[in-house]
Amino acid sequence: MAVTVRAMSEDGGIFCAAIENKDVVEYIKKIWKPSAAGLIALGRLAAGTSLVGSLLKNDGERLTVRFSGKGVGGNLMAVSDQYGNVKVRADNPSAVPEHPLSVAEFVGKDGEMSVIHDLGLARRGELPYTTSLPIFTGEIAQDFTQYFGISEQIPTVCSLGVLLDEDKDGELIVKAAGGFFLQCLPPVTQDHLNYVMTNIKKSGRVTEMLARGDSAEKIALAMLDGLNPSVLDTFPNGLRCDCDRNKVLDMLATLPKAELRKMAEQDNDKTEIKCDFCQKKYILKKDEINRLLIEIK
Ligand SMILES: [Zn+2]
Repeated sequence: MAVTVRAMSEDGGIFCAAIENKDVVEYIKKIWKPSAAGLIALGRLAAGTSLVGSLLKNDGERLTVRFSGKGVGGNLMAVSDQYGNVKVRADNPSAVPEHPLSVAEFVGKDGEMSVIHDLGLARRGELPYTTSLPIFTGEIAQDFTQYFGISEQIPTVCSLGVLLDEDKDGELIVKAAGGFFLQCLPPVTQDHLNYVMTNIKKSGRVTEMLARGDSAEKIALAMLDGLNPSVLDTFPNGLRCDCDRNKVLDMLATLPKAELRKMAEQDNDKTEIKCDFCQKKYILKKDEINRLLIEIK
């Protein structure tokens, strides 16, 4: 389980959301068996997407963040609901970059970061809207910072960290993970900007805070130090996939009929479809595929 804490300065000028997501990173490690760079990248992406996702207002809304940077890890994607529950994936999670801990090389910089806001109202004609911008550093946190600055026009600092170790057999150990973003809300004053810069400098890097064992609440309040902050809310979230048999069948229904027919012919009730996010396996029966062939027009 991860924990998100949101806090605000007394005057309402600065907002901070912080997350502690070590358990999520451990779960990512279990599902994907990624390289060290892959695990750091996916852990940071999960934390960042979860923090932004928890700004969503309504049930059924989804926030998707995608990095297509042509790095060794291929495309990376994370999807969050309004509570910050996330699912993440990478094309090649176990790829090892030339510099084995380089997230920028894993993600790549030759491409775009896309943020897709789905209101969950497609049936009412409200389609998801997408913001795309060139990947800035591929380190993920700086890319989130750039996204807020350019797309939302809100001065924001985002910092995300995954702290790893290795046991004697070379197995990765997740020591700590989390992050925060800090926003100056309009009207932005020089005073507020100064507080933000001072507090960031004073607290040190997010990995240092996490390594010290600072909780999400402690991090959020440290970022608002001197501004008489209060905690707005604290809530749990985690790595959660929303796949089910119906969604798998919906996905199959988008395939060309010829491909489905081929599946039904080869099939001996053992067509296996794996969820792209949680790796759960679904075994489909010949009847189900034949029924789908009749249903789709
Ligand atoms: Zn799944």
